[in-house]
Amino acid sequence: MSKGVISKDEDYSQWFNDLIIKSDMAEYSPVRGCMIIKPYGYSIWEKIQAQLDKMFKETGHQNAYFPLLIPKSFFSKEASHVEGFAKECAVVTHYRLKNDGTGNIVVDEDAKLEEELIIRPTSETIIWNTYRGWIQSYRDLPILVNQWANVMRWEMRTRLFLRTSEFLWQEGHTAHATAEEAVAETEQMLDIYAEFAENWMALPVVKGRKTANERFAGALDTYCIEALMQDGKALQAGTSHFLGQNFAKAFDVKFTTRDNKQDFVWATSWGVSTRLIGALIMAHSDDAGLVLPPKLAPIQVVIVPIYKHPEELDAITEYVKGLTKELRSKDVTVKFDNRDTHRPGAKFAEYELKGVPLRVAIGSRDMQNGTVELARRDTKTKETVQQDGLAAHITALLEEIQTNIYTKASTFRAENTTEVDTYEEFKRMLDEQPGFISAHWDGTSETEQKIKDETKATIRCIPLNNKQEEGKCILTGNPSTQRVLFARAY
Ligand code: AMP
Repeated sequence: MSKGVISKDEDYSQWFNDLIIKSDMAEYSPVRGCMIIKPYGYSIWEKIQAQLDKMFKETGHQNAYFPLLIPKSFFSKEASHVEGFAKECAVVTHYRLKNDGTGNIVVDEDAKLEEELIIRPTSETIIWNTYRGWIQSYRDLPILVNQWANVMRWEMRTRLFLRTSEFLWQEGHTAHATAEEAVAETEQMLDIYAEFAENWMALPVVKGRKTANERFAGALDTYCIEALMQDGKALQAGTSHFLGQNFAKAFDVKFTTRDNKQDFVWATSWGVSTRLIGALIMAHSDDAGLVLPPKLAPIQVVIVPIYKHPEELDAITEYVKGLTKELRSKDVTVKFDNRDTHRPGAKFAEYELKGVPLRVAIGSRDMQNGTVELARRDTKTKETVQQDGLAAHITALLEEIQTNIYTKASTFRAENTTEVDTYEEFKRMLDEQPGFISAHWDGTSETEQKIKDETKATIRCIPLNNKQEEGKCILTGNPSTQRVLFARAY
């Protein structure tokens, strides 16, 4: 690839990293596992946020904000939660530095905190501690709260966007009077995530449930959306948890029911993170750079003038003003790149790398002929079209590109999802044609763990739309009633 980005077939990980750095989305920070999200990358996050936030609000949720720091004692209140998160918690122990007299800055031991504070890895504990004060009766329910925040999980193996130690996300935390209502909420939010992935990210996903091994620490049931990346590895793109009454019991959150009894409150939590940007890149991009679905592209249309003399630029600029106005009135994000410091060829390469869905090039000949040159990023095709009716043509084309990117990812997933019935076939597929593998499993954690140890493949989910079917577990031969989805995953 131009500009030194390696081909994805040659080295997929390197290709992914190169793309992010060269397209100016993000860079590494001085702290391992943390990253700097640059304006181009951040504007994709803003688009993701805007759409999801709208969908959350349309379903009755409100935003709030809870503190970054959580007293350590809160974590020990829910046993499986602390066990799950203990190994990746960053802990604040002191609140002051001092000069040691020789010019070195050291931690001031006199400023040791009485109770250590945890930088939130997720906020169930502080939120349920707060909900105790908010909920007395069934009239106070449901509580449908979401927060946009950063969290820290001290990850050992990190990768830009996909798995970082600090990441941005949203976390929904809801409280309900009944289990049924909480389960319905968990499923509703999973549907919202799936709809967002498919309609906005152009990313087909499988909705399913996690097995006990992969469940969120503290949840009774974890639902997820799973996507397939171009190297045949799966990526968990979002989770929605039914937490039962675990957190209410841990934080003593009781309410008076309609029939005047006391009961613990039912909980859900659900989240997606900046990992979605990683998914977007991995699922659609190619050796020439990013391929972004128009609905999330920071710039949907870039216009590049091609001219020799300033008067030619003036004429083009006059025309572009009108076109830009018309496109903006149709909510299309347009950039007119009239920099005189870069040649058109360099601009073309830059926008290809950045995945701008449509490029319009206009030269003096075009101005005479009443035409422009339109180039699509997804298919890399070019056409000369009339300036007349161009804005309508562009909006139609953006929709077509969105659909085309989805169809491509969907075809890829279909071609890389296989049903297998024996362990030999299972192992062969993992090596020869990695992807989703649909196979029978006897339902035990031991079998799942053994398959993971031997092949690195995990059960990504038990798909929600599974049909019941008699079969035999690929490892043990024990009876099974349904297939589950395996893959090696990020
Ligand atoms: P969880 O709270 O573990 O269910 O995760 C909530 C969301 O955050 C999921 O959509 C995960 O894909 C995402 N996520 C978990 N860990 C990380 C990480 N280290 N970096 C980025 N995203 C993450």
